[in-house]
Amino acid sequence: MIQVRFWGVRGSIPCPGPQTMKYGGNTACIELRFPEVGRHIIIDAGSGIRELAGHMMAHDLPRGPISTEIYLSHTHWDHIMGFPFFVPAYIPGTTIKVYGPVTYEDDPLEEVVGGQMKYRYFPVNMGELAASIEYKRLREEPNIDLGDGIVLSTAIINHPITALGYRFSFRGAVFCTAYDTEPFRNLFVTDPADPSYDELMAHEGELAAREQNQVLEDFFAGADLLVHDAQYTEQEYNDGKIGWGHSSIEHAISAARRAGVKRLALFHHDPERTDTHLDELTTLYCADGSPDDTTIFFAREGMKIDL
Ligand SMILES: [Zn+2]
Ligand SMILES: [Zn+2]
Repeated sequence: MIQVRFWGVRGSIPCPGPQTMKYGGNTACIELRFPEVGRHIIIDAGSGIRELAGHMMAHDLPRGPISTEIYLSHTHWDHIMGFPFFVPAYIPGTTIKVYGPVTYEDDPLEEVVGGQMKYRYFPVNMGELAASIEYKRLREEPNIDLGDGIVLSTAIINHPITALGYRFSFRGAVFCTAYDTEPFRNLFVTDPADPSYDELMAHEGELAAREQNQVLEDFFAGADLLVHDAQYTEQEYNDGKIGWGHSSIEHAISAARRAGVKRLALFHHDPERTDTHLDELTTLYCADGSPDDTTIFFAREGMKIDL
């Protein structure tokens, strides 16, 4: 069994307050527990990791030293900003492995994540953390054996910096992420009226985009739970948000359905979305279909799902 718990479901910046109490205001953080083998995995260290840290200090530390693995989808701030507040990192005996893709600048992961723990930004320096912390760079790779029967596949997704989707399989259960990402698109000029239009290039670009989108759908095909970027509505996306690295709700739903995903968690909510707005979107997009259909919902902080 994989036990999934959402500790942060927002994108961009935390947005606490009376208007976001139901869905939560913390940025990306998802916890996976594998109770049969005692493994603990965290995906992203957004502001939600602070409360997860408190939970681990209260429930896990009394049973022995904490050992966890943090997989970063990418190193944008909303996905790493909680790391300095991950209290187990200050406890001697804690073991943390941090995995993630490296940006195009090629700086080591340790510097990118730890860079926010310089006195300029934060009162505690990275070197003062008492835990044993190991950093490991990940690339796109299928079927990485994580031991204990857990298998991980990673996929490059479409974001302004290198970002990875994660697919964890364990004893027949499959959990998958695809955020922050937007549909791959034709990078060549597609308007025949444009002087730089080249019919062959436009055609090639169309094929390449279609293929990349298919590769990603194959990556999350059949997942028991897919957590997918859904920051915008299709209208918002087309109205000036193309190229920002986020998907529309409509895209997430159609891609998940085509890929035969069992449950789709719409994720990385725009900080402008209030509870009322997310409830309205739920009515619009998440109607119950036939039992074979993909179950669709907007991820909510505190939500727990067993796979
Ligand atoms: Zn983000
Ligand atoms: Zn991002």
